[in-house]
Amino acid sequence: MMRPSLLPPIPELELAAKLLDAAADAVLANRRELAALLIAAADLPEIGVYARRLVGKMSVEVHRVVKRPECLPKGDRDPARMPSLAAQAAIFVRDGWRCRFCGTKVINRSARARLIRSFPDEVHWSAREFERHTALYAMACSLDHVHPHGRGGRNEPDNFVTACYCCQFGRGEWLLAEVELTDPRSPEPVRDSWDGLSRIAAAQT
Ligand SMILES: [Zn+2]
Repeated sequence: MMRPSLLPPIPELELAAKLLDAAADAVLANRRELAALLIAAADLPEIGVYARRLVGKMSVEVHRVVKRPECLPKGDRDPARMPSLAAQAAIFVRDGWRCRFCGTKVINRSARARLIRSFPDEVHWSAREFERHTALYAMACSLDHVHPHGRGGRNEPDNFVTACYCCQFGRGEWLLAEVELTDPRSPEPVRDSWDGLSRIAAAQT
């Protein structure tokens, strides 16, 4: 049966988004201790378990396939893999800073970098990915080639959707049909006040 995402998102992702949104407000209000508490509260172990199921070893239960696909040789791929940073930002805004597969709210990379710098104890950004702050890891924003680059996908705006880290790296180079996913471009993006915490990346405070 076709599905919008490899796994349905768990409620803890939405909870983490609420906590991190409040943390961003606390950062802007110079309420450092409150921000630290909120960031620590968003580091939910359930999200770590969920992420591992998606980006760890491929499984029939989650991925429905277990062997990585054959990719085109590098020379046969579109030489421009990614659009400019400005074009990438425009796609994240177009998509309301949400994963077009599972709907999870995603986090601006510069905002995350700021949290890593300002709250190293709470974010504990380890070299080992499964030891990192679970929400900041799993909810990282990325640009996904709907038709994978390694399988001939082009560097064109129509071929890109915003994806969370789990949906991006859980699918890898598989075509949508091969992992039984519906086209993430067909439901319209949801846009509201969620900004991927972009406001703390831009702020000077
Ligand atoms: Zn997702």
